[in-house]
Amino acid sequence: MAASPRNPFGVVIERPLSATVGIIEGRETLLFGTNNYLGLSQSNAARDAAIHAAQTMGVGTTGSRIANGTFGLHQKLEHALAKVFQRKHAMIFSTGYQANLGTISALVNKDDTLFLDADSHASIYDGARLSGAQIIRFRHNDPADLEKRIARTSNSTGARLIIAEGIYSMTGNIAPLKEFVEVKKRHNVPLLVDEAHSFGVLGAHGRGVAEMQNCEADIDFIVGTFSKSLGTVGGYCVTNHDEIDLIRLCSRPYMFTASLPPEIIAATLAALEEIETKPELREKLQKNAARLHEGFKSVGLNTSNFISPVIAVTLEDIPQALAFWNALLAAGVYVNLSLPPATPDNRPLLRCSVMAAHSFDEIDRAVETFGTIAKELQVA
Ligand code: PMP
Repeated sequence: MAASPRNPFGVVIERPLSATVGIIEGRETLLFGTNNYLGLSQSNAARDAAIHAAQTMGVGTTGSRIANGTFGLHQKLEHALAKVFQRKHAMIFSTGYQANLGTISALVNKDDTLFLDADSHASIYDGARLSGAQIIRFRHNDPADLEKRIARTSNSTGARLIIAEGIYSMTGNIAPLKEFVEVKKRHNVPLLVDEAHSFGVLGAHGRGVAEMQNCEADIDFIVGTFSKSLGTVGGYCVTNHDEIDLIRLCSRPYMFTASLPPEIIAATLAALEEIETKPELREKLQKNAARLHEGFKSVGLNTSNFISPVIAVTLEDIPQALAFWNALLAAGVYVNLSLPPATPDNRPLLRCSVMAAHSFDEIDRAVETFGTIAKELQVA
């Protein structure tokens, strides 16, 4: 990282001023690199609910869900999530990372086989490793490759499970879940989908890519997080499988860690209600995503051809990406820098994300800054 005046992995937001602006290096900086898609980390309703919960119940549970860490509020949130997803069961975890670890490692073991999209999030890979199951990777978003690999395991005696995501966090790519569902049905293999980045964002009611593609009923397990559109912290798994109560007793990342504190649960419940009652947040997010996408195209940047709240700007090489990212921050625009080998095609990218809370003026200012730097660095 010698060529970078700053450590891209050590940025400090000294203080958030709003959902879209924070103080970085003493300056007001536009935030275009968060997961706060609906701006709800700054929701007044969630803030008030958290304050009330802390004042009436304290700030922590000091225990695990299966010992002394289940409050009425945890069950209330589980019931609310089951209702939102129209599923029989919901189970909450202390982070989204643990939701994947805890669900995957409870569903399969060393005699079983997992089919993972090659671009899966680290929490899916770590959950797979914790389970001890055989891991078979299929090409990113490629149902034909998945089918080929599943067909080769048709004689296997162990359980099999397919895992995909809704929106991929680095590129904004959207999974072809409907086609994965056709594959899973042909081969009778259950499907788990991580809707971490798509819940609250896509679908008529914000339930994610499965809702958008009209295939929710065929997804066996949905995993997600509270740390993106809901603006807090925590994770969940929802399902119609009645065995979920067994998962509670064999999932180490659920059992051996403290449960979420009451103020977080209360804030999450309030944010969930906002997602349900304010479809205008999703509509604004889509408009903002389209504006940022158009803006990037208009200044000649290399982005995807589809519109998503996560937009990756692909660059040629690491020195160019470092220079671009540093210049953006110096000019008051914060985005995420992502470097090979963690990126698709081994090319560096600037991961930009838009929020419902951004104004058109903020988006236009960010685009202008991108355009100026692209010219200076001869990118566009
Ligand atoms: N799944 C996916 C697809 C993610 O992108 C993330 C976080 N970036 C997680 C799970 C983990 O969620 P959390 O950060 O809330 O633990």
